[in-house]
Amino acid sequence: MVVGTHRNTYAKISLAIIKRNIGIEKKKMDPEQALFAVVKANAYGHGLLEVSQAAHEAGVDGFCVAIIDEGLKLRLAGIKELILVLGVNPPAQAVLMAQNNLSATVDSLAFLQAAAPLLRAKNVRLAVHLALDTGMSRIGFRTKEELKKALAFLKAHREEFIFEGIFTHFATADSTAQTALDHYHRQLEKFHELMTVVINKPRYVHVANSAASLWHKEAKGNAVRFGIAMYGLNPSGGELELPSELKPAMSLYSEIVSVRQLDAGNSVGYGKTYTASKAEWIATVPIGYADGWLRRMQGFKVLVKGIYCAIVGRVCMDQIMIRLPYELPVGEKVTLIGTDNKKTITAQDIATYSKTIHYEVLCALSERIPRYYK
Ligand code: PLP
Repeated sequence: MVVGTHRNTYAKISLAIIKRNIGIEKKKMDPEQALFAVVKANAYGHGLLEVSQAAHEAGVDGFCVAIIDEGLKLRLAGIKELILVLGVNPPAQAVLMAQNNLSATVDSLAFLQAAAPLLRAKNVRLAVHLALDTGMSRIGFRTKEELKKALAFLKAHREEFIFEGIFTHFATADSTAQTALDHYHRQLEKFHELMTVVINKPRYVHVANSAASLWHKEAKGNAVRFGIAMYGLNPSGGELELPSELKPAMSLYSEIVSVRQLDAGNSVGYGKTYTASKAEWIATVPIGYADGWLRRMQGFKVLVKGIYCAIVGRVCMDQIMIRLPYELPVGEKVTLIGTDNKKTITAQDIATYSKTIHYEVLCALSERIPRYYK
């Protein structure tokens, strides 16, 4: 991937804000609870290494990644804390994970059975966290019987495995709709029920993501997997109130690279989807769907000089066109996420407009956009 360090479109990420957000969460937690920073997907678009280093400095106890390669990158960078790979991987990867001290998510006895001889042959031990499927229907053990077999296997294979953790993941901890609350409580109940067969508890028993940690005090466990709220965004979108001290860490900027005055009847962009109804100032901004500024953002807005300006015409691969209130020069700053003269555009505004969630908006911002840290 080529990073556009010479372009005028960039994201600014405040590591100080990320550290502060972690500090706010830590203050709320019990002293014996561990905090795992969820840094998968390039730290939700914020930059894997930079965020992880900041989280390390803020005193987190571990990290969660989605794929092995993210974990390897952290180890190569010298991160020493626990790294849990949240995704399920084939047994053939067990040795690699063990050799790099990555903790594996395990959701089947078959994995343990196939991985054991491979680990024994290399004389390495793999730390495992058993996933429990309590109602997400994604990964994990679903019955006490399956779980008991896995626990017995782990007990009989202490040379190959360290039983380090057990966890589940909630599907609806971010909503107060009755159906969501009911499902959340059913999941919690099922978790407690499955846990009755876990006689010797591992070091980490963890259930809480950001939403559960913010709004469900009873969903405790002894570790929190802290994701979106670390980046300062509200897991519920806008449904539940985010503690006001949590602040978004990312803003996104560009600048005007070309300006023209259209006559009434002139059209803009591919497919000629916008036509000026009178003389209008149109500016071009170098960001497009290849940067993750998706085509469905046509008709949304950006900020220039504290004024909301509409995105007119189709979003191109590398550029958008915006309608200016009056003539402005090339080089004028454009705010795509952030605040300009007391007006703000948030990742949630973008998500609402484009009918998605802010997680997707941030993850979609491609590596072509340079990230600058302060
Ligand atoms: N735990 C698991 C298993 C996840 O998949 C995720 C994110 O998708 C998280 C924790 C973090 O969730 P959040 O970003 O909502 O805090």
